[in-house]
Amino acid sequence: MESLKKNIIFNNIDKLNGVGAQLSKYLKKRNIEKIKDILFNLPYSETDRSKIVNLNKLEVGKIQTIQVVVKKLNFPRIRNLPNKIICEDKTGKVEITYFNSREGYLKKLFPINKELIISGKINLFNKKYQITNPDYVTNIDDKEYVNKIIPKYHLTKGINEKKYRKISEQVINNLPIIKDWLSKEFLKENNFPTWTDSIKTLHKAENKQDNLSPAYRRLVFDEICANYLVLSENRKRIKKKKINKFFTSSLSNEIKNKLPFKLTNSQEKVLYEINNDLKSNTRMFRIIQGDVGSGKTIVSLLSILNVIESKYQCALMAPTEILAKQHFDLAKKIFDNKKINIEFLTGKTDYKKRKKILYNLEKGNINFLIGTHSLFQKKLKFSNLGLVVIDEQHKFGVKQRSDFAKKGGKNCDVLLMSATPIPRTMMMSLYGDMDISRISEKPAMRKKIITLSKPENKIKELWPLIKKQVEKQNQVFWVCPLIKESPFLDYTSAKKKFDIINKRYPNKVGIIHGALDKSEKEQTLKKFLNKEIIILVSTTVIEVGIDFPNANLIIIENSNKFGLAQLHQLRGRVGRGSNQALCILLYKDGLSKNATKRIKILKSNDDGFFIAEEDMKLRGFGDLIGYQQSGIKNFRFADPIYHENLFYLADKYIKKVKMISDNDTHHFLLKLFDRAEIINQNFD
Ligand code: ADP
Ligand code: MG
Repeated sequence: MESLKKNIIFNNIDKLNGVGAQLSKYLKKRNIEKIKDILFNLPYSETDRSKIVNLNKLEVGKIQTIQVVVKKLNFPRIRNLPNKIICEDKTGKVEITYFNSREGYLKKLFPINKELIISGKINLFNKKYQITNPDYVTNIDDKEYVNKIIPKYHLTKGINEKKYRKISEQVINNLPIIKDWLSKEFLKENNFPTWTDSIKTLHKAENKQDNLSPAYRRLVFDEICANYLVLSENRKRIKKKKINKFFTSSLSNEIKNKLPFKLTNSQEKVLYEINNDLKSNTRMFRIIQGDVGSGKTIVSLLSILNVIESKYQCALMAPTEILAKQHFDLAKKIFDNKKINIEFLTGKTDYKKRKKILYNLEKGNINFLIGTHSLFQKKLKFSNLGLVVIDEQHKFGVKQRSDFAKKGGKNCDVLLMSATPIPRTMMMSLYGDMDISRISEKPAMRKKIITLSKPENKIKELWPLIKKQVEKQNQVFWVCPLIKESPFLDYTSAKKKFDIINKRYPNKVGIIHGALDKSEKEQTLKKFLNKEIIILVSTTVIEVGIDFPNANLIIIENSNKFGLAQLHQLRGRVGRGSNQALCILLYKDGLSKNATKRIKILKSNDDGFFIAEEDMKLRGFGDLIGYQQSGIKNFRFADPIYHENLFYLADKYIKKVKMISDNDTHHFLLKLFDRAEIINQNFD
């Protein structure tokens, strides 16, 4: 094969010598389709075939290499018996056996008295050493090829080491000298090898590279850069120039001063950041990150007020009807008699009302529309939409984010809110396309939720506690075991629990779980909100964001099966009112070390960001809440726990270096890490 050119690494592997349709099919199973996939399929271990072992020193069960002379070939005429070749060296004998190999082929491979190198796994059969179907049989001349330490790759059925080596060595030995996209100085500064050298080093079996080695870190850096490039592309396309909004904030100041509480410093800071964006002449694309109960809603409403006062329309979207309704009620309350026309629209709004809303929206008679996803239907036309706010947005990925931005129109600012604390390193990977505001403190008077843990067999001790709560009309959440990712398994356990509790408190208990449809769930939640039911048994489906000021106790069964961040979010369902709230974590006996640690962290801490960091350390980033939906591809090499500093380095690099304007490199990196399609998908 001629020396590879840069873009050849995106060619299909079927262009390589020795790769036919069958082999392509097998390799595809391991996600190897292009040449670069072979480069990125790094060895996980190695096989040492480097020593020639005397036949009296063979070790059963090991892969070993021998140098022997062929003495005798034996082809039994009885079916199912293997063909045998007897070989020897000065110290002993060995049998090479083959099942299902043709006589002619073997005769050619093993000429009598010929000296050969054979490598394979040593067995003992009838007290004789055997190698069955050896991995290699070669002439002494080709000794070098076999007699060494050979990288071991993850392969699938149908491909053995010998076959795969032919392909991988063909590719790696002919790697093009690619002009590196990182400058010599930068490489040196960070102790990175060139890309080509990194690949070569990582495929060498002799000196194994761990994930902190310079060669590996180099690939990690590239991968993180590719990821940030996607987000920065998203950002570039969204954060465009907009018409300057004439801006005032006298109304919001007036209302702020009338609130029954004082904003926290954090809330003030975020409000200031948002106002600056609103005033600027580029579109806002910002996310407010704040733990459950940190008070994001009021910040968004005050920002909305500023935009309305500046004569633009606003829209606020929430993931569920109940949450949207809570926002609507709150907005009506605090914007009372300010001549602001607020409307509420969901999928359930009846035809007549909807028609009226659509009409008034287009005429500009409605200042503020609150609702669910239906705010984004095509028929809806605003006369001059200035700001879209999307609450609890952690369920939306990169694609949805740019969709929201597109739908708002050119002059529309976009504000997202999320209660899912994300560790700092992951924040850049997930939301690098946005500006980030963090509400890091909670309202001062808020009482800390007391968190206790109890083994499940002491569940009886809970009944008096529940009795007390019910007598006081305090509401209770009862979260049921997470058995497996199946709505039906969850369903049965929640149902059982419901039956038990319902016997004690007839007509006071409700149940929600994943097997119910959305409107059934909402109906029960509404009943709970209106205190028609006192105890709510549920799986983990309880929506984030809804305020249940009267719920003070949450019981979480099988708590050891949940991740830290998830437990923290569940716990955040209670403790929003003025009463002391309590969270009880039930666990099965025999807690693992990690589970014990999780419970300990939760008991002593209520900072969602800290908890998210710990969660990532304990379980890895793939398990973070919202990560699966984020639309961010899993990293192949990078791991925020091991490579945290590279995430920061890449962030700085992308922002500083004009690589982004170098389209060629840009595209190359995106293609290299399979991220090009995210961008195309978003913007065509
Ligand atoms: P989240 O950030 O989870 O969306 P919310 O905006 O729903 O939190 O606020 C939770 C509760 O805290 C609400 O009842 C709200 O009125 C109250 N709250 C918000 N800010 C403050 C504050 N600065 N001081 C006291 N209570 C506040
Ligand atoms: Mg909220």
